[in-house]
Amino acid sequence: MDRLRRLDVKYIKGVGPRKAELLKTELGITTAADLVRHFPTHYIDRTSIYRIVDFAGEMPSVQIKGRFVSFTTQGEGAKMRLIGLFSDGTRVMEIVWFRKIKEIRKAYTTGVEYVLFGKPTEFGNRWSMVHPEIDTAASAVQAGLRGVYPLTEKLRGRNFTSRTFYTLITGITESRTWSVEDPLPESVLQRLRLMSLGEALRVIHNPKDNDSLQRARLRLKFEELFYLQLNILRYCRDRQSAIAGFRFSRIGNYFNNFYNDCLPFPLTGAQKRVIKEIRADMGSGKQMNRLLQGDVGSGKTLVALLCMLIALDNNTQACLMAPTEILATQHYATLRSMVSQTGVNVRLLTGSTGAREREEIHAQLEDGSLHILVGTHAVIEDTVKFHNLGFVVIDEQHRFGVAQRARLWKKNVIPPHVLVMTATPIPRTLAMTVYGDLDVSVIDELPPGRKPVTTVLRTDDHRQAVYRHIGSLLRQGRQAYIVYPLIKENEKVDLKSLEEGYETICETFPSYRVAYVHGRMKPAEKDYQMHLFATHQADILVATTVIEVGVNVPNATVMVIENAERFGLSQLHQLRGRVGRGADQSYCVLMSKNKLAKETRKRLEIMTSTTDGFLVAEADLKMRGPGDIEGTLQSGMAVDLKIASLATDGQIVQIARDAAGAVLDDDPQLARPEHYGIRREMAALFDRTVDWSRIS
Ligand code: ADP
Ligand code: MG
Repeated sequence: MDRLRRLDVKYIKGVGPRKAELLKTELGITTAADLVRHFPTHYIDRTSIYRIVDFAGEMPSVQIKGRFVSFTTQGEGAKMRLIGLFSDGTRVMEIVWFRKIKEIRKAYTTGVEYVLFGKPTEFGNRWSMVHPEIDTAASAVQAGLRGVYPLTEKLRGRNFTSRTFYTLITGITESRTWSVEDPLPESVLQRLRLMSLGEALRVIHNPKDNDSLQRARLRLKFEELFYLQLNILRYCRDRQSAIAGFRFSRIGNYFNNFYNDCLPFPLTGAQKRVIKEIRADMGSGKQMNRLLQGDVGSGKTLVALLCMLIALDNNTQACLMAPTEILATQHYATLRSMVSQTGVNVRLLTGSTGAREREEIHAQLEDGSLHILVGTHAVIEDTVKFHNLGFVVIDEQHRFGVAQRARLWKKNVIPPHVLVMTATPIPRTLAMTVYGDLDVSVIDELPPGRKPVTTVLRTDDHRQAVYRHIGSLLRQGRQAYIVYPLIKENEKVDLKSLEEGYETICETFPSYRVAYVHGRMKPAEKDYQMHLFATHQADILVATTVIEVGVNVPNATVMVIENAERFGLSQLHQLRGRVGRGADQSYCVLMSKNKLAKETRKRLEIMTSTTDGFLVAEADLKMRGPGDIEGTLQSGMAVDLKIASLATDGQIVQIARDAAGAVLDDDPQLARPEHYGIRREMAALFDRTVDWSRIS
């Protein structure tokens, strides 16, 4: 691989400086190693020939075999095109060229048998194919599968085809001198019966049959995931061995008094179990890095508070960090009211905390009289110093990366324990990778008495009925959310529809009070409007997704989501979590346009069929792919997955993780000669990744 990494693509036969530049700007391919790792996305069976007479409906790319009957040109100048009538004996179709007409006309003749590869489309009742790939029948009859390579529009415009890639790449991989040293040790290859790297790279570009193709893909997927897991595991182990944590050995008055006198309701079984898991970590002497997953409304805040009280009992301070000002403020209000009888000093620090108050908070933090600090990112600024910070809670993890957590670890000589809370339920294999450095606890039970939110899909035709339903709930004294999408690219249009929606709502419900928030408002105005709704001085809240995370108004029992088709499933689930927080039956109405694409309808129907966040997340992952989540991953532990997918290759993730673990058990520093190859690969793959264990 090293040799290929050093070989600039422009020196590869058939490339040259101009093509090399295109490959670089369009696909980021700069070396021979990049080129041989430009994999086909799918394959066409070269042995199967379609009959034109059988074409129907939306066709994939296919092969046909026959002869050109005639060639004619139509139009002039830039609009000129060449049309070849092609017959395969079952029917005639049109083959169309817009470019390189002269060359094409010269290269192909009537009467000779060719095999054409391309995507047929239907106009009226005539079939045609534009710029197909063409082989003479004699050269095309090799058996096997032909790869279809990802291309960009620009590459296509410059006459790059799948065939171009095939030729360039197999020119390397099928050459007599092709050989690649396998970085994986014999032991791993043999135990898992993996194909060698050189063989896999050759086969994936030129498979003889499906069986060997699958083995090649498995080898390459495994390898990607193996290095990724190795990187994550090595990092975790380094951290664990390098860093001692606080040992919280006692449960004292803060915890006990609260538990006995102030607990607002009995804990659910899941809450109890999770607290036990966290306690065990905090008492282990190692620094805790734990992820607490729990669906919206599962009661994570109370768990966080109880754990913070344990920290106080062990003479340390605690801190809770939320992603937005609204959330931080709300957490602050909740915690304050819960601990009001206990003598715990809680304060709030955000970007809008005034200078004098900030000074006071800084002073109290440093002399230790402030027990729990709640806030936004403001709490990780370097000017914020604690007397003895022992425990940190981060709410809604996906917005905090490893880098930010690392800053928290520095807040004390002994790094504080960290509990990360998220309502984004992600499947296990993914959690293992994205949050690979965290242990995971799950609250899989909602507090008793909750009724699942009834979710329905409605179109504009039903708008009046939807409004009547809202009206009847408002008359019973309930509150309602109306949510509009506000998506960056289209902000102006969206803002307009939000404003119009607001006016419609005011006109439809003239005797009710309507509040109004969106992300572009000044924070003070936003908070004021939210406050109106939270204190029931407003009955309806018209809002954008700023209310997505964590807002808690149990009296709100209906949410209407406008243009629901524009939201992702996970986001819809988060939004829906704002209702169904009290004992009353709640409703979520997904409004969409009349005509929906099949996929979109299927997506929205998942929402109407289940309220289980894990099911929603899994469906989302399958339909959308793990793009967003891999995005988070890349900010932490960068790797660009080219062939493996965290969404669908869960099993291989597990195998790769086990194999990586076994290698590290055996040779923690990867110092042995047989692991030299792995080290070289890791260095090449992760050279820009920061080693966080060294930072803290
Ligand atoms: P989330 O996990 O979404 O952050 P919260 O912590 O905001 O959930 O809790 C949701 C609601 O459930 C709150 O109103 C909270 O007071 C209530 N709650 C939490 N735990 C329990 C419990 N054990 N029994 C009854 N209600 C609970
Ligand atoms: Mg919450």
